[in-house]
Amino acid sequence: MEEKSIISIQNLTKSYGSTAVLKGVNLEVKKGEVVAIIGPSGSGKSTMLRCINAMEKITGGDILFNGKSIANMKNLPELRKDIGMVFQHFNLFPHMTVLKNVMYAPVTVRKEPRDHAQQYAMKLLKKVDMYSKMDVYPSTLSGGQKQRVAIARALAMKPEILLFDEPTSALDPEMVGEVLAVMKELAKTGMTMIVVTHEMGFAREVANKVAFMDEGIVMEEGTPEEVFDKTSNERVKAFLAKML
Ligand code: ADP
Ligand code: MG
Repeated sequence: MEEKSIISIQNLTKSYGSTAVLKGVNLEVKKGEVVAIIGPSGSGKSTMLRCINAMEKITGGDILFNGKSIANMKNLPELRKDIGMVFQHFNLFPHMTVLKNVMYAPVTVRKEPRDHAQQYAMKLLKKVDMYSKMDVYPSTLSGGQKQRVAIARALAMKPEILLFDEPTSALDPEMVGEVLAVMKELAKTGMTMIVVTHEMGFAREVANKVAFMDEGIVMEEGTPEEVFDKTSNERVKAFLAKML
């Protein structure tokens, strides 16, 4: 059976004024897939993620979410409920406890009953091993702990797909592993994920597909083996050589 794409990016362009940032991106993401996006700084990786969850208005081409064009979608808050995002700098609410951070969107956006949202938030905090910290404020947490809470918060909305924008880039090296471990567990449960990352080990081990972005396009894509070991693209080779 042909698997349908959750996300289908078709000749996507995005410009800021006269500056073209995305110049015709094509990418398919199927249910349960983990797609790693790699590539040099400034190649448009973050811009592409922001287009997918409609934080940016696209200039041309289209993005289909479960077959529906997001270019013409009126109800963007509805779309954002289904597409979760985890940022490099966590973006937790500083004035709320860990538990309240995770409960906030389900209660205010999905209008879930508080007790129900709280039960589910506690379950998610167990999953990311942050249950014991549910009553503390984010400022008291390490970067790795904050990012694990941010992942629980994104999961609380029961998204169909999770986007990660360099989730470990702001972390001290000793905390990278604990966040990648949570992401790896998520991948095992079948969560569909697009992960912009410089962690080549994670991309190789966990991703089904690796896409190399450069100069506003997906210049190369394939299995980790195809991209990391078998590419003949000089730009990919040069990039990978620098990452080692
Ligand atoms: P990456 O995540 O791959 O490092 P980005 O998507 O952040 O790349 O940025 C790609 C290019 O788009 C960069 O040259 C950046 O300066 C430009 N850019 C990103 N956001 C904006 C914006 N809001 N206004 C103008 N230029 C932007
Ligand atoms: Mg970026």
